[in-house]
Amino acid sequence: MTEFDVIIVGGGIAGASIGAEISGRRRTLILEAEHQCGYHATGRSAAFYLESYGGSEVAKLTLASRDFLANPPKEFSQSTFLRIRGDLHITRDVLPQVPSSIETRIVERAELERLIPGLRPAWRRALFEPGCADIDVAGLHSAYLGHFRRNGGLVQTAAKLARAVRKDGAWVITLEDGSALKSSILVNAAGAWADRVAVASGAKPLGIAPMRRTMVQLRVGRSGLKDLPLVDDAQGTFYFKGESDNSLWLTPHDEIPSEPCDAQPEEFDVALAIDRFQKVVDWPIERVERSWAGLRSFAPDRLPVYGFDTSVPRFFWCVGQGGFGIQTSPAAAKMAGAVLLEEDASPMVAHIDPQVFSPARLVG
Ligand SMILES: Cc1cc2nc3c(=O)[nH]c(=O)nc-3n(C[C@H](O)[C@H](O)[C@H](O)COP(=O)(O)OP(=O)(O)OC[C@H]3O[C@@H](n4cnc5c(N)ncnc54)[C@H](O)[C@@H]3O)c2cc1C
Repeated sequence: MTEFDVIIVGGGIAGASIGAEISGRRRTLILEAEHQCGYHATGRSAAFYLESYGGSEVAKLTLASRDFLANPPKEFSQSTFLRIRGDLHITRDVLPQVPSSIETRIVERAELERLIPGLRPAWRRALFEPGCADIDVAGLHSAYLGHFRRNGGLVQTAAKLARAVRKDGAWVITLEDGSALKSSILVNAAGAWADRVAVASGAKPLGIAPMRRTMVQLRVGRSGLKDLPLVDDAQGTFYFKGESDNSLWLTPHDEIPSEPCDAQPEEFDVALAIDRFQKVVDWPIERVERSWAGLRSFAPDRLPVYGFDTSVPRFFWCVGQGGFGIQTSPAAAKMAGAVLLEEDASPMVAHIDPQVFSPARLVG
């Protein structure tokens, strides 16, 4: 039976980033159920970096990730993963609250009209967040996997964990095809399947809830959209961002409880997105170019979970990354990697208390 120090279940951004972090220091294998890594949430994101997103604890991970995403180490990537676009949180009345560590400024209607030509009159003001950027998600994910492999890490796709048991102080992991592997530590980075992997490993589920979110790519009769800021409703009912000169990505900000699955968009949610969009700008809609959906998975308190299980030995949680798993991945992987290897935190995350993200908070 092949033996590893660490086996990571899930080859999305969570598994790939923590794998990259510990690679070269532990013999590590990533197991991915699909034929390719990144098929689920990671490959379906809206691909932006927004510091105000997810509340103040998540913002610490996001802010700590910024330098890495903007200027990655040369051996990791030759180019940046960020492209600045800014975000306008538009409102009919009340401006949103954002943590004071985040740079913002208020934009009044006259300037707003210049920034979003065709904006309907009801939208009176906005909070502008200049640091918002697009993330090259595919580039980042493949850079994590590339780094992981260069440091000796192995990736096995079409390899679904069926069950795992502790035997003589180690994990014996059985895959769906009946083959078995051995490892000292088992990392649960299974996204929407996190609780299922826990149960299959004899650990208590933490209540990680998958929620469907729909994205629509719309072609509109308006050009010059590519570099517009991200536009989101301060009350959280939609956002959209330019994709090409005359198309954009739009969501109705849906959050529909779902079983873990290959999520697909529902017609109703696509129609809802378009209905909301038409109340924002007067841009003629030409067609829906494509639509897709993905599962964002949340712990009950909506903070991600990083740390060893409180009851089952050497079972490590790396789950619940909600709608911020890409933008937080550099700092989250550094912090979680240090907890996993029982080492001091790197300077990048030394100011962040990993206890805040520990599974212990969700138990009992
Ligand atoms: C529509 C949408 C928009 C989003 N926009 C953004 C954004 O703009 N910015 C941002 O930062 N984040 C965004 N997110 C969130 C981000 O995509 C997620 O937080 C992140 O991708 C989660 O990564 P993951 O690796 O945990 O999950 P996943 O990418 O889903 O990976 C988990 C993997 O585990 C595998 N797996 C499950 N069970 C098993 C098993 N038993 N054996 C082996 N493998 C298994 C699955 O096949 C899957 O590939 C968005 C998400 C969605 C859906």
